[in-house]
Amino acid sequence: MKKYIDLKSSNDYSDLQEAGQIIRSGGLILFPTETVYGLGANGLDEVAVKKIFEAKGRSSDNPLILHISDKEMLNDIATDISEIEHKLMDAFWPGPFTIILNRKPVVPNIVTASLDTVGIRMPSNEIANKLIAYSGVPIAAPSANISGKPSGTNISDIFDELSDKVDCIIDGGSTDVGLESTVVKVIDGVPTILRPGKITPEDIKIVVGQVKIDKHVFSKLEDGEKVLSPGMKYKHYAPNSKCVLVYSDNNDLLINKVNEISSSYKTPLILSTTENVSKYENKLVIDIGSKYNLDEIAQNIFTDLRKVDKFKPDIVIIEGVKQEGLGLAIMNRLVRACSHNYIEI
Ligand code: AMP
Ligand code: MG
Repeated sequence: MKKYIDLKSSNDYSDLQEAGQIIRSGGLILFPTETVYGLGANGLDEVAVKKIFEAKGRSSDNPLILHISDKEMLNDIATDISEIEHKLMDAFWPGPFTIILNRKPVVPNIVTASLDTVGIRMPSNEIANKLIAYSGVPIAAPSANISGKPSGTNISDIFDELSDKVDCIIDGGSTDVGLESTVVKVIDGVPTILRPGKITPEDIKIVVGQVKIDKHVFSKLEDGEKVLSPGMKYKHYAPNSKCVLVYSDNNDLLINKVNEISSSYKTPLILSTTENVSKYENKLVIDIGSKYNLDEIAQNIFTDLRKVDKFKPDIVIIEGVKQEGLGLAIMNRLVRACSHNYIEI
């Protein structure tokens, strides 16, 4: 029978030793991290990692992140680490921060999609940390979801799509951050954000004085264009329903636009910030959280996106937030959920 470990309200982590054994013997595990749930396997075992790609239906040219529990594990898998890279890891690990480093040959090609670099993160979630430590190997883990769908931030959201495909489920309740890690590559000495997350450009700037944001964080990839982060090429987070993202710094203009769009559809669904819910009277609305509490919006946004298809809307209109701090990461996910169908007024 599949192993189910319930750690929602217990901190008796002794069962994680058996979970570590499952990883070592080539099994797949659903486990919580502080960002989103991961679908993990032994990152040094090519056969085990292949199962991740199969379970998710993930394209083989989309590399995985290796998760480590302490900095000693780093030297086994990465090489030629610069001072600035060390500085970033020391500042943001353990935590929701992934760094792209030169890889060692021991890392299988399947993990890196044959790139000469590897993404590495040290999660701060205690369950994740203990699981990796008991495994004794880096755990390769993409977000737990079928490719293209919103990432899983609690077990009930992903149970139907993944439970049959794994050997063990570790339930740690809802994840804290709710969005995947910030992915950074240091290019010509400058930390470049390939995917925004809880660690913001401002946070990085404070540590090393400079930061860049890769243009593909927001712009649509043109045919044949080379991309630094292969994951940016793929559809992600998208409901089946047609979605449009709308934002304005001027709240009245934003409300007017949302009302104008919704009035030309029969069964619109609006994802509204708490402050604006009452402005969409007699309309179907999901409250995504307060625009003054971006942590709350980040925590719930994937669950909200998973809800929308149930209403069978002919359009989903999503209110955006200011692209500042964590707002950058929220907007990156929403722009992609809407397949770049974005109106800014
Ligand atoms: P996920 O596993 O779903 O959190 O996605 C991992 C993200 O990290 C994807 O967008 C990948 O493209 C990116 N990534 C992983 N490894 C590398 C790498 N070696 N170079 C650039 N991006 C990477
Ligand atoms: Mg993902």
